[in-house]
Amino acid sequence: MPKKYDAIIIGCGIIGNCIAYELAQKGYKTLSVDKQGGSGFGSTAGSCAIVRAHYSTFDGVAIAYEGFFIWKNWGDYCKVEDSAGMAKYRNCGSLMLKTKGHDWRKVKRHFDAVGVRYEDWDPDQIQQKMPLFDLHQYWPVTRPEDDEHFFDKRRELLEGALYSPGAGYMSDPKLTTHNVQVAAEHVGAGFRFNTRVVDVHRKNNRVQGITVSDGTRIDAPVVINVAGPHSFMVNQMAGVDDKNNIKTKPLRHEVAFVPSPQEFDFEHNGFQIGDGDNGIYLRPEVGNSILVGSEDPDCDPRDWVADPDNFNRNVTDRQWNAQVFRCARRIPNLPIPGQKRGFAELYDVSDDWIPIYDKSDLDGFYTAIGTSGNQFKNGPVAGMMMAELIDNVENHNLDHDSHPLQFKLPNSGITINAGFYSRNRELTPESSYSVNG
Ligand SMILES: Cc1cc2nc3c(=O)[nH]c(=O)nc-3n(C[C@H](O)[C@H](O)[C@H](O)COP(=O)(O)OP(=O)(O)OC[C@H]3O[C@@H](n4cnc5c(N)ncnc54)[C@H](O)[C@@H]3O)c2cc1C
Repeated sequence: MPKKYDAIIIGCGIIGNCIAYELAQKGYKTLSVDKQGGSGFGSTAGSCAIVRAHYSTFDGVAIAYEGFFIWKNWGDYCKVEDSAGMAKYRNCGSLMLKTKGHDWRKVKRHFDAVGVRYEDWDPDQIQQKMPLFDLHQYWPVTRPEDDEHFFDKRRELLEGALYSPGAGYMSDPKLTTHNVQVAAEHVGAGFRFNTRVVDVHRKNNRVQGITVSDGTRIDAPVVINVAGPHSFMVNQMAGVDDKNNIKTKPLRHEVAFVPSPQEFDFEHNGFQIGDGDNGIYLRPEVGNSILVGSEDPDCDPRDWVADPDNFNRNVTDRQWNAQVFRCARRIPNLPIPGQKRGFAELYDVSDDWIPIYDKSDLDGFYTAIGTSGNQFKNGPVAGMMMAELIDNVENHNLDHDSHPLQFKLPNSGITINAGFYSRNRELTPESSYSVNG
């Protein structure tokens, strides 16, 4: 006998689990399937889990800031204690340096429009809080192996920074995602792991369900592709990949860890920092270390991956050096270890680095994909918006393509036009075309 559910969610990362949780709370009988052995084992596991509001679009800022209020009260969102432990939100604050690499004036306008709390810091204020920082401008970003003047001091100083007190990171993205699984199970959601989806069924332009690797067919009138870097493959199974104007593909990204200079407790006094001058972002890490990620500067080659099941998960000498040496310009006393610590994971990048939270041309088939390295923080809000979209299309005859869902953010009361995340949008001109969204 084929099994039947109201909705099948393909992928148990942070976004997939938040959608499952929200649908289950609306009374949907859901089944989440993942080819891996547990929740958050995919690209979510490699997330830096940073929660910050600086995005290049109004919608990006509004949704990210909304998420902050959920992370801050994580137990209230989950409503139930996970026996594996609850992930912790660490509110370290965020510093967006005023550099030529970021359109910080635009971000500031969005902060004002959304109501994000921030302070406008001059260089002295930065230096007071970050005595280890060199405040010279280093724009444009270069690669250390191509630039013989890489470490030369520049003349100009930074203008300042935007400091947002309401920002931080989740201690453990995998555990966070497991917390949501437990919350979803508590309201009736089902989960099946070690189960790869190999086919998506359709009949008369309506999705029918899926077949998994052991040959079992599972039926449902709603199927949601939340497969992260595998999203293009699941779209191919459903036959919708060539219908969408915006496409997705996996991009390999490296994250480096370095010790903080001993004289400064970066773990407890450091911020999440966006440094557009150096094309890097930083955040505190346990053991008084600093996590160094990349903001995709133009001079760095992009490492597109054809097969998301087969890529190099280790850092490479060239890219690790590029990210860490850039960090060493900002923190001249940075101890550079002989042994390179870090890892590589995949982003699921859309053509304009803005996610696709949408229905598709196949009735009942939805996508929450193209999260482009910056949507962990938006998981809970994306879950709410997707559940609202699905419910309105399936049960209230919403024609989302012609009259997009207007989604009211519960905390700020701001209404988001969900059409902003359409699969058929033109490339978003105001996007940063980087991990900054
Ligand atoms: C290095 C790195 C750093 C990041 N840092 C941040 C950050 O600081 N802040 C932030 O907000 N965001 C960050 N992100 C982005 C964020 O982590 C992602 O946007 C988010 O985790 C995506 O979650 P997801 O649920 O969509 O996908 P995933 O976590 O990738 O989950 C998809 C799941 O689908 C499963 N799957 C795929 N194909 C199939 C199939 N055929 N059958 C069954 N299961 C399948 C996979 O096994 C996987 O578990 C970062 C990402 C990376 C890679």
